Order: sequence, then C-alpha cells, then structure tokens
Amino acid sequence: NAAASGADAAADQGAPTIFDKIISKQIPANIIYEDESALAFRDINPQAPVHFLVIPKHRDGLTQLSKCNDSHEKVLGHLLVVASKVALQEGLNDGFRVVINDGVNGCQSVYHLHLHIVGGRQLTWPPG
Ligand code: ADP
Repeated sequence: NAAASGADAAADQGAPTIFDKIISKQIPANIIYEDESALAFRDINPQAPVHFLVIPKHRDGLTQLSKCNDSHEKVLGHLLVVASKVALQEGLNDGFRVVINDGVNGCQSVYHLHLHIVGGRQLTWPPG
C-alpha cells in the first residue's frame, strides 16, 4: 500500500526512527550531551567541522516542527538552550547555525524532530 511504500517519508511519520535506537542505546552514536529530556550527538554525515543534532528524548508527537502545539513550548525552548550550551562546549565561540528541516520541501529525512547545529567554518547564506 501507499503508506508502506516508503516513497513519501511523510506518509510514515508515526513510525519509530533510527533516533529511537540511539536514545535507547541500541545503536551507537557519539553522544556529547544528555539530560532527562534531550540528547545531543554528532551527525554521522557532517556538513561542517562541527555538526551535531539535538533531539527530544520523548518524541511526543514531534515528528517534525510543524506538528508542534502549545504543549511543546517547554521542550522546544529546552532544545534551543541545549543547542547553545553544547555549541559553546564544542568551541563555537565565533558563531554557528541552528537548522530545523521540516517535511518534504525542507528535505527532512528522519521524522523525529531534531535541531542541526553546524559550525567551525565560515558558513554561507542562503542555503540551497
Ligand atoms: P537530511 O538527511 O536531509 O539532512 P534531516 O534534517 O532529517 O534530513 O537530517 C537527518 C540527519 O540525521 C542527517 O544529517 C543524517 O546525517 C543524520 N543521521 C542519520 N542517521 C544517523 C545516525 N545513525 N547517527 C548520527 N546521525 C545520523
């Protein structure tokens, strides 16, 4: 059927993702920060000298940013605070970029909300 075809990732957005296995430590990741509600780990395909992801441990409906509602305000704020703290921990004192890819047009491939933090070189704008 169409939902199982995998042709459209958005059709399968309720399914567990690889990030669930990283959270449960079933598969290894280079974890650089962890607390009760957030996890930060290095991206496996880095786009800059520093590239890590910050994710909520409890997806709680947040397959993607556009699924958020008022109940997510606290966790969304926390993810940004963690992003900044870990960026400084990683030595990104001259700046960095935070990106959330949403949906098909945003080139989202993993449907578990995540912030990309990239830095360690001069970044350009606009993105592709
Ligand atoms: P895109 O793949 O277009 O960047 P996303 O915004 O959904 O879309 O980003 C998913 C990110 O997760 C990618 O940067 C990818 O390299 C990263 N990733 C996928 N699997 C792993 C993994 N096992 N460990 C670390 N990072 C991963």
